[in-house]
This record gives sequence, structure tokens and C-alpha cells, in this order.
Amino acid sequence: MKVLVFIEQRAGKSKSSALEALTVGARLAGGPADLAAVVIGKGVEGIAAQLKGYGADTVYVVDHAAFEHYNPVSYADAIEAAVKAHGAKVVVGLAAPMTRDVFPRLAARLDGGILTDVTAIEAAGANLQGVKPMYAGKVLAKVETQNAPVTFVSVRPNTFKAENKGTGNAAVSKLEVAPAADSRIKTLEVRKGANERPDLTEAPLIVSGGRAMGSADNFKILGELADVLHATVGASRAAVDSGYASHDMQVGQTGKTVNPNLYIACGISGSIQHMAGMRTSKVIVAVNTDPEAPIFKVATYGIVADLFQAAPIFTTKFKALLEK
Ligand SMILES: Cc1cc2nc3c(=O)[nH]c(=O)nc-3n(C[C@H](O)[C@H](O)[C@H](O)COP(=O)(O)OP(=O)(O)OC[C@H]3O[C@@H](n4cnc5c(N)ncnc54)[C@H](O)[C@@H]3O)c2cc1C
Repeated sequence: MKVLVFIEQRAGKSKSSALEALTVGARLAGGPADLAAVVIGKGVEGIAAQLKGYGADTVYVVDHAAFEHYNPVSYADAIEAAVKAHGAKVVVGLAAPMTRDVFPRLAARLDGGILTDVTAIEAAGANLQGVKPMYAGKVLAKVETQNAPVTFVSVRPNTFKAENKGTGNAAVSKLEVAPAADSRIKTLEVRKGANERPDLTEAPLIVSGGRAMGSADNFKILGELADVLHATVGASRAAVDSGYASHDMQVGQTGKTVNPNLYIACGISGSIQHMAGMRTSKVIVAVNTDPEAPIFKVATYGIVADLFQAAPIFTTKFKALLEK
């Protein structure tokens, strides 16, 4: 099966979890000749070298100043050109902002199928079968395409392990794609967030705070813990609405869906809407003064304690452990 993987990049660097998507592509493709990746942007040719060994023989590169910033129409044109160049029947990407935006557009354009945010995917004859968490992870839906000429699959970050098996020479194949003349969208400015940590959606470790944090200043306690763990700081909506944390830190139904290996929830009650965004985390540690807090129902480890006492202890203990 001919498979193409869309590698999301920012500022000339591939998103770390893009390699997970490539690994999924390698599993679905027959071999390195059947697997290709596509990288789009300005000054992005170097990314191909980072993909070597992950199973793709070809990396299509659309490298042009006009593609520096994401534009759904131009990026759809570029991916479509790669789909045609490779003869791809399946296109894999991360369930991350760009892919979520551009894949439905492409699926509609090419009369294709789409499976979004899957946590498992496999070939079922000529079709693809996937598993997709729904209703805040309470049910797992089995989804399948039916005779689609091309199927777009977005995979949930931090679900599949990236594996470099040393196959695929990732040779660059440049694609000339004209930027869309009538895209109707123009990026005027890109402002970098103050947060230098990995984006929540792909962070392997997250320390989150809720209303109980009490102030923006108190979030520094979680920042210190996050620094030790190389984690990203998240927040509940109550913390965001209270002005303690910025909106890009919000986890949940109206915030980001996260899937880290470890989610430490400090002073978060565990509302349905919050859990919709973090329930599938592999290990959940909850710190709450209320032993009846709903978060304890999903927590792997529950600690009934004051977060202002517990969080600094975590920081000190992890620091000592990691320095050993
Ligand atoms: C349509 C809709 C969408 C929503 N989307 C989201 C969303 O995306 N994300 C989201 O988070 N919420 C969302 N909400 C809001 C959600 O319903 C809750 O109001 C919110 O999640 C509560 O945040 P919280 O747990 O921080 O606050 P609270 O529910 O007030 O909980 C605070 C917790 O801190 C504990 N606590 C207090 N002091 C301490 C201490 N010193 N140490 C330890 N624990 C302490 C308390 O026991 C309590 O459990 C949404 C709501 C609606 C209606």
C-alpha cells in the first residue's frame, strides 16, 4: 500500500511526534519504496535528514518563501501534489492543529475517506480500520473506511512509539508547487507564545493546575516542578478564566486534548469537561484536598493533600532522583 506521511514542522524543525506518524505510515506501507513523507515550509529541506531510518525512501519537499506560514489552501495544494507524485492511497498525519485543519479539506477535495484522532490503525483488506476514543474517552469507536480512493488518517500524539529501524534512505525529491493565488487567507504575523516548553498536545509529561492555584504567581510552583521533569504546564478552564494561566494552557473539552505518559493534576476537581481532554493520559497523578474529588476516579495515583505542600516535595524528590 502506497502511504504518504505529512510531517508538521515549525521554524524548520519537524514536530517531535511527527516521527510517530511516520512510524505508523511505515507499518501500513509494504516497504520503504511504498512510504514517502512530505515536508512543507521555508528552509525545510534539512528536515529530510531527521527522517532517515524511519522507513521512507522518499521525502517530498515543498520549500518556498510563500509556504513559510501555514495556509490551508496552499498546504492542501502541496500535499495533494505529493499524494499524486507518490500515488498514495493513505495519507497519515498527527492529530495536531495543521493536520486537523488540512486533512478534512483534502479528503473532501479528493473524494477520499478520513479517520481522525485514532489510537490504533490497521489494514483490513483494501480498507483501513481504526480505533477512536469518543465521549471523553468513555467509549472507543471502531471506524472503517469503505473503498475510498485515498484515506486520510490523523493519529493521536504520544500514542504510537516512534521507531527508527534503519530502513528508508529519506532521499529528497523537490516538488514545485505554485502558492495558491486566491487563498483568501494571509498570515500577517506569527507571535511566539511565551511558553518555551513542548506544546501540550505532544508533551510526554504535563503538570496541570486548577482553580486552587489561587493566582498566576502561584503557578510558578508548577513551573519549577515542570522544569525538573522537562514537562509542560497545563491548566483547567477555571484557572484560565480566573486569569491564572493563558488560554493556550487549557486542557479539556474547549481546550486541548492531551495524551501524555504522565499527567499531574494539582487542585483540579475533575469535571467531565476537563477529563474530556486528559482522560487517556497513561499515568494520572491527582493531588486534591477533597478525598471525594471526581479526579480520583480516573487517577492512577491519588494524593489527598494540599498542593502547596505536595508540589514542592515532588520537585525536590524528582530533582534528587534525576540527579543521581
Ligand atoms: C461547555 C463547557 C466547556 C468547558 N470546557 C472546559 C475545559 O476545556 N477544561 C476545563 O478544565 N474545564 C472546562 N469547563 C469547566 C468545568 O466544568 C469546570 O468548571 C472546571 O474544569 C473546574 O476547574 P477546576 O477543577 O480547576 O476547579 P474546581 O472545580 O473549583 O476544583 C478545584 C479543586 O481544587 C481542590 N483544592 C482546593 N484547594 C486545594 C489545595 N490547596 N490543594 C489541593 N487541592 C485543592 C478542591 O477540592 C477542588 O476539587 C467547561 C464547562 C462548560 C460548561
